[in-house]
Amino acid sequence: MSNHLFDALTAFIPDRDKVFLELADGTKLTYRDMLARSAQYAGALQKLGVKPGDRVAVQVEKTADALMVYLGTIRAGGVFLPLNTAYTPTEIAYFVGDAEPAVFVCDPSRADALAGTAQKAGAKLQTLDANGEGSLRQLADAMPTDYETRPREDDDLAAILYTSGTTGRSKGAMLSHDNLASNSATMVKYWRFTQDDVLLHALPIFHTHGLFVATNCLMMAGGSMLFLPKFDLDQVLAVLPRATAMMGVPTFYTRLLGSERFTRDIASHMRLFISGSAPLSAEVHREFSERTGHAILERYGMTETNMNTSNPYDGERRPGTVGFPLPSVGLRIVDPKTGREVAKGEVGIIEIKGPNVFQGYWRMPEKTAQEFRADGYFITGDMGRIDEDGYVAIVGRSKDLIISGGFNVYPAEVEALLDELPGVAESAVIGVPHPDFGEAVIAVLAPKNGAVLDQETVQTALGDRLARFKQPKKVHVLETLPRNTMGKIQKNVLREQYQGDFA
Ligand code: ATP
Ligand code: MG
Repeated sequence: MSNHLFDALTAFIPDRDKVFLELADGTKLTYRDMLARSAQYAGALQKLGVKPGDRVAVQVEKTADALMVYLGTIRAGGVFLPLNTAYTPTEIAYFVGDAEPAVFVCDPSRADALAGTAQKAGAKLQTLDANGEGSLRQLADAMPTDYETRPREDDDLAAILYTSGTTGRSKGAMLSHDNLASNSATMVKYWRFTQDDVLLHALPIFHTHGLFVATNCLMMAGGSMLFLPKFDLDQVLAVLPRATAMMGVPTFYTRLLGSERFTRDIASHMRLFISGSAPLSAEVHREFSERTGHAILERYGMTETNMNTSNPYDGERRPGTVGFPLPSVGLRIVDPKTGREVAKGEVGIIEIKGPNVFQGYWRMPEKTAQEFRADGYFITGDMGRIDEDGYVAIVGRSKDLIISGGFNVYPAEVEALLDELPGVAESAVIGVPHPDFGEAVIAVLAPKNGAVLDQETVQTALGDRLARFKQPKKVHVLETLPRNTMGKIQKNVLREQYQGDFA
């Protein structure tokens, strides 16, 4: 009997005594420990009534135990459903009500506030805290360290992951065992992960980046992880000398660059720096190369599709692009109106097909139907183009496209120029209502340490570099741009804030 994902994740364990996780306090968990602990959590969940196909929802801090609950859920045949730790009890009530899990695990400090929510959804409430202690841990501790992993097929669900909610309410993406297993196998090969790798893991594990891209990949390679609760500069710099690779969101890289302690020396032994989840500015890419001699490898994925494209391991990692479609991933760029493929170099909507593409949105059959073409391609909502060498560049989300005076303005094009201006740390270009143009382009900038930016200088600097309709009609300067937990700029927040600019 086989459990497709768990078998794939554990097929290449080099030696059971090999370290799987090393925690911030130096505690080590071997692969043997992982097998035993995940067996105990699988047993605990089964005892709580989890049957194959049942959801196990968790809103817990990032700990080794939390990761074991993920693996235990898969072994018990359940569907893992992690929730952002920043969600408030009101938001959790919606997600748990929607998911109707058999078990819901939360931090003990929230157990009282969430007891009613769990009960209403028909879920047994369990707890797990930031030290990996709680009622679920106690139950697991009493369980045998071996467990007969339940059989699951390729197309059985392994997880429901909620999207980041950057453009609206988060949607639950249903991911099958093979969606995850096949994509991880591709990444291991493409990025050359082996059992010699030690991944610096500072990402949250309620999101696809930290949970699947990072964890599944390293497990499948039989490597180790330096497992930090979050990105803390001091902690990251302290363990960096022992890592071989790091996966991060762009803000990790800007924060490293912001520290003088991040030197060429400290990064010299590293094999690979990978970035994703949000656009990495070409400026940061270049600055990073100058400082360390490493070209960050940028890739593009989404909750619904896992990883779609990647810059090459060998060969040029081109700043401002997300590289090539991964093996077995079909990618095309189409005209949103006609659905027909555009000519090379033209901008359109990115559509994706392949074994990586999800099974649909949980309990949203209409939304699911809307986002798929008849031939099985998933409409990502991201706009991009493919350059003459085949590199894919993302120019923004279709929801962020600005139409000013009837002309399309792709935010990424304007942002790239703004990022190059002296004194600009980061930029966001958005459209706001305008009585004559329909929408007007405006820019919101965050200055580099101590720099003073004013509207006139910025506008003059762009004057001969951009067509007039693309030039920001107003420039706002904020200390920092609003971002969500995945480091994504919240353009909806900015649009709301500045909607009255021309009213
Ligand atoms: P929601 O769908 O709820 O609005 P979201 O799209 O931000 O939120 P995720 O699934 O976490 O939720 O993010 C996927 C999106 O992140 C992609 O569709 C794309 O817009 C963006 N993204 C990921 N990697 C990159 C990248 N390298 N460059 C630019 N954008 C990226
Ligand atoms: Mg999305």
